Amino acid sequence: MSMTRREFVAGVALGALGGTASGATAASQIALKQSMRAAKLPIIICAGNGFATIADGYRLLADGADTLEAALRVVRGPEDDPNDDSVGLGGLPNEEGVVELDASCMHGPSRRAGAVGGVHNIKNVSLLAREVMLHTGHVMLVGEGAERFALARGFKREDLLTEDSRKVWLLWKEAHSDWWGPGLADPGWKERLHSGNAAQYYQRLQAAAQDLGIEPSRRTAAIHKVLFPPTGTIHCSALNAHGEMSGCTTTSGLAWKIPGRLGDSPIIGAGCYTDQDIGSAGATGSGEENIKVAGAHTIVENMRKGMSPFDAGMDALKRIVRNYGGDMQRLKFLDMTYYVLRKDGAYAGVSLWTGYEPGRPHTIAVHDGTARLEKTVSLYEGASQEWPPIVAPPKSTL
Ligand code: ASP
Repeated sequence: MSMTRREFVAGVALGALGGTASGATAASQIALKQSMRAAKLPIIICAGNGFATIADGYRLLADGADTLEAALRVVRGPEDDPNDDSVGLGGLPNEEGVVELDASCMHGPSRRAGAVGGVHNIKNVSLLAREVMLHTGHVMLVGEGAERFALARGFKREDLLTEDSRKVWLLWKEAHSDWWGPGLADPGWKERLHSGNAAQYYQRLQAAAQDLGIEPSRRTAAIHKVLFPPTGTIHCSALNAHGEMSGCTTTSGLAWKIPGRLGDSPIIGAGCYTDQDIGSAGATGSGEENIKVAGAHTIVENMRKGMSPFDAGMDALKRIVRNYGGDMQRLKFLDMTYYVLRKDGAYAGVSLWTGYEPGRPHTIAVHDGTARLEKTVSLYEGASQEWPPIVAPPKSTL
């Protein structure tokens, strides 16, 4: 049986897991370069979707602001942005069409933490996590209690479901239900969207997207989100010139999730962890997997034992692989990116796969005086959504 390139590369990397010569030598060199370049303080790192606001955070840091304030400034950008559908306003909703947000933060100098989960109607949940840290004797609030606490602290309720996200959600409903969309008696009735072959399914989704009023330029992306429920999040870690550090993570979580589902982002030690003595780490990707390896905490503890940021992150990724016994038929549906910052300024961005889609690599944004986007170093080469869980839209349309 012939092997695809992706299976081959994965096989090499799995070999490396077993302790044979690493297939990721080039990757290690890139990571080493990343680490060496980062001797400059202050430094701030975040997921690629924070690139537009990383300079704002860096400026605060350079002006002597608190490290958590600087990190929160970065992640507020995507939270406020209705076009970032992975965070805050405009986040893709749960299966009932309700935007449900999670966030956490850790303040290194005071060794405190705050988190919120399953929050409706409050846009800046990263700031709400900080409020929990500052103004309660708790670490985590969820659901209605978190919303009421937000109102008590002066946050405003707002409708977080944008028109764009609502329409994509409706498309997802129509793709998964016999009862959403035009019924049998309607001239616009379409045979079950998912019957027939891949191309027919795709054409029906296109037609349904058109009926829902999704603009032509957004239809293919909308269908992609229906076929591959996207994840998306922002983590940010900040380190100042005095060696103080903090981190935060905020997300709308997995699209179309079951109401009440919490991912890794609000879990201290999974989506975010900072230890003032060692370093800070955070995650984006398959939250369920990251919770099971306590990713951010594992990475910081690895660095405590002397691992480099790159090795510490790779080790956490390998623990996810280990949880599936290296079964590529399952691992191909998962993805995970770690953002790692050590107390001396060394950093790494590592991911399970190269990117979600071919041509769209995972990135880490870095600012240490110069703002840049760097590709993460991946354990496996390939796109995690290259093998679709349901059906592939025709290649030419992607
Ligand atoms: N980790 C987030 C979650 O599982 C989603 C993401 O990072 O994309 O909720």
